[in-house]
Amino acid sequence: MSDEPQFPQIPSLGDALIRKKKMEESKYSIIKCKSCKVKNERLFQEGDHVFKKLTDEICSSCKKKALYISEIFSEWKIPKKK
Ligand SMILES: [Zn+2]
Repeated sequence: MSDEPQFPQIPSLGDALIRKKKMEESKYSIIKCKSCKVKNERLFQEGDHVFKKLTDEICSSCKKKALYISEIFSEWKIPKKK
């Protein structure tokens, strides 16, 4: 007697592609402070790259100019309707 479990259907790739078209990519940069190890996140800005030193910005926690970009990541979001 065969009693194999029934697996749910995997959504087709076409659906995923259509969904992605409706979504917007938002890029973020993770800013770290070398001095106090504080970690912040902000929207990606033109020219950002990993390990870039942010010499114009002061750490909000220790007030030192020791900030750098430790990570860049992107997120897919459904745009809000206006
Ligand atoms: Zn700091």
